[in-house]
Amino acid sequence: MERFDIAIIGTGPAGISAAITAKLRNKNLILFGSGKGSEKVAKASVIKNYPGLPGISGTELRESFAKHLEAMDVPVIDDKINAVYSMGRYFFLKGSKGDYESSSLILATGVDFAKPLAGEKEFLGRGVSYCATCDGMFYKQKKVAVLAYESGAWKESLYLSELCSEVLYFKLHKEPMPGTIPSNVSVVDEKPEVIKGNMKAEVLVAGGREHEVDGIFVLRDAVAADSLVPGLKTEDGHVFVDRHMRTNIPGCFACGDVAGMPYQYIKAAGEGNVAALSAVSYLADLIDED
Ligand SMILES: Cc1cc2nc3c(=O)[nH]c(=O)nc-3n(C[C@H](O)[C@H](O)[C@H](O)COP(=O)(O)OP(=O)(O)OC[C@H]3O[C@@H](n4cnc5c(N)ncnc54)[C@H](O)[C@@H]3O)c2cc1C
Repeated sequence: MERFDIAIIGTGPAGISAAITAKLRNKNLILFGSGKGSEKVAKASVIKNYPGLPGISGTELRESFAKHLEAMDVPVIDDKINAVYSMGRYFFLKGSKGDYESSSLILATGVDFAKPLAGEKEFLGRGVSYCATCDGMFYKQKKVAVLAYESGAWKESLYLSELCSEVLYFKLHKEPMPGTIPSNVSVVDEKPEVIKGNMKAEVLVAGGREHEVDGIFVLRDAVAADSLVPGLKTEDGHVFVDRHMRTNIPGCFACGDVAGMPYQYIKAAGEGNVAALSAVSYLADLIDED
């Protein structure tokens, strides 16, 4: 498998800025996220505090970011990373579409304001999963629930419908359902409340009703950083970093909203630049050690 110098997760201002700097420093990088860029950037109607671009709209800024990446020949790998493991001298990344390796890692995943469900963290890896492609095979001919917080969850649910006897699709996104729904998929309009079980997750309580299931797939746009990278130190819901954007895991850096407040474009972009330069210096030290 090809081993990249730097893997960057997130295509908001932090990740894009990190990618630009890494590319300028001639690093072999891989950038993961939505090809469309960050929804949080697109949502701003007018941005008044980005230097040099007074009054730019969010959609204009997002287009401008995309053009900048294109001009620098930095492709975006449209894959959601579901887990990252530190292997000592490199990182192993598990995505929905593939596996990847990289010598260093920059987390620029933003923040997700959704609180985890009661029982979600407790049963993660024991009946609760964030990735249908990775874990679907464990639920062959079984009954599963999908908590679809984003419409992209539908594609993963179709895959589950091919493997599992029954899929309960909890539609928690605003977008309408696509036309054809397989016969073993039921669309449920109830709000999930609690995941319960003993040794593993067994029951999803939603809308006051108990649903007995063998597995629960929680599919959100973003995964909490400490669930994404086991062993990552967090503080007050953010990744703990120093001024060089270093985390407690050697070779792993974090920038932007995920690394703390204030939540601002220019702060995210600035930290992305620092994180990339720190990763470059980490890589130089790795080579010196060899
Ligand atoms: C409505 C609104 C208006 C705002 N207006 C302003 C403003 O005027 N000025 C200002 O300075 N700030 C503003 N902000 C704040 C600003 O949007 C954020 O501070 C900024 O977007 C943070 O950038 P980021 O790169 O850290 O994260 P984000 O922009 O959140 O980008 C993170 C990206 O990472 C992707 N991602 C997450 N997890 C994964 C994964 N596991 N695999 C692959 N990809 C992943 C996400 O899908 C997302 O695209 C506004 C925010 C909102 C919501």
